[in-house]
Amino acid sequence: MGQSQLFQGIIELSTAKFWDAAKLEWKISDIEMSDEWQTCLCGQYPIRELCHLINTSNGNSTTVGNCCVKKFMPDLSSNKLFTAFKRVRKNIEKSLNSEFIQLAFERNWIDQLSRDFYLNIMRKTKLSEKQRKWKVSINEKIVFREIRRANVRLKDLSIEGMNPIEKTKENQ
Ligand SMILES: [Zn+2]
Repeated sequence: MGQSQLFQGIIELSTAKFWDAAKLEWKISDIEMSDEWQTCLCGQYPIRELCHLINTSNGNSTTVGNCCVKKFMPDLSSNKLFTAFKRVRKNIEKSLNSEFIQLAFERNWIDQLSRDFYLNIMRKTKLSEKQRKWKVSINEKIVFREIRRANVRLKDLSIEGMNPIEKTKENQ
């Protein structure tokens, strides 16, 4: 259980067959505070802070909790991402951090213009009304994004071997 279960699960989904090489294939594709309790790939339950990972070598995807993401990316402070995420969900006027803005840009949640603007005004204490509104709209785009993710998830699932038509039948 625990670490070995995580390593085994990741290696199965990776091109490389050893942990040290396999872990390098993965990067964060999304961060989510789930409304429902979930189980991490390592077996830990319950978790709500989810990191969705994508394998850059073969396109596989998986989800781990904040408990395990550091085993892949010791440099990347996933805690920092979650702290910013929670802060802004609580108060939409607050600021995300540069790591999060960069992730949002890489994932196409926001465009380059928005990213540059945000990085530029992030540390300013005084914003014009126009800047403030723009910042809040970017925050909303990022932190309430999972509402729009539902469809993507269904699509992901059907790629993983389940026939979407069969699934529809099951649901009826
Ligand atoms: Zn875990």
